[in-house]
Amino acid sequence: MPYLPTVDRRFGFSLTELIVVVAILGVLAALMVPRLIGHSDTSKRAACYANQGEIELQVKLWRRNQGSYPAANLSNIDSNPAYFPDGLPVCPVDGTAYTIDTSSGLVTGHTH
Ligand SMILES: [Zn+2]
Repeated sequence: MPYLPTVDRRFGFSLTELIVVVAILGVLAALMVPRLIGHSDTSKRAACYANQGEIELQVKLWRRNQGSYPAANLSNIDSNPAYFPDGLPVCPVDGTAYTIDTSSGLVTGHTH
């Protein structure tokens, strides 16, 4: 007589129960994915805004130490590791470099 494993039907899940669980997970995933994608754009804009604040703060510090604002393309402040030890950040939204208005010290553009 061949060995046949016995199935104890008191334990385990029926096919219907598994289908219901998979359907619930599918509905949850369908609800969550658009929300996560939307938050990605929002967080990138928030990161750009935070970068602008950090740059403007360091530009003020540069002006206090050097007596004038750094170059509009921030090349001289970028080459000084005392101000941006990890390098000058780039915009997380469009990947462009930041520039400043040399009369106000404020970041130009990046109104997204
Ligand atoms: Zn930006």
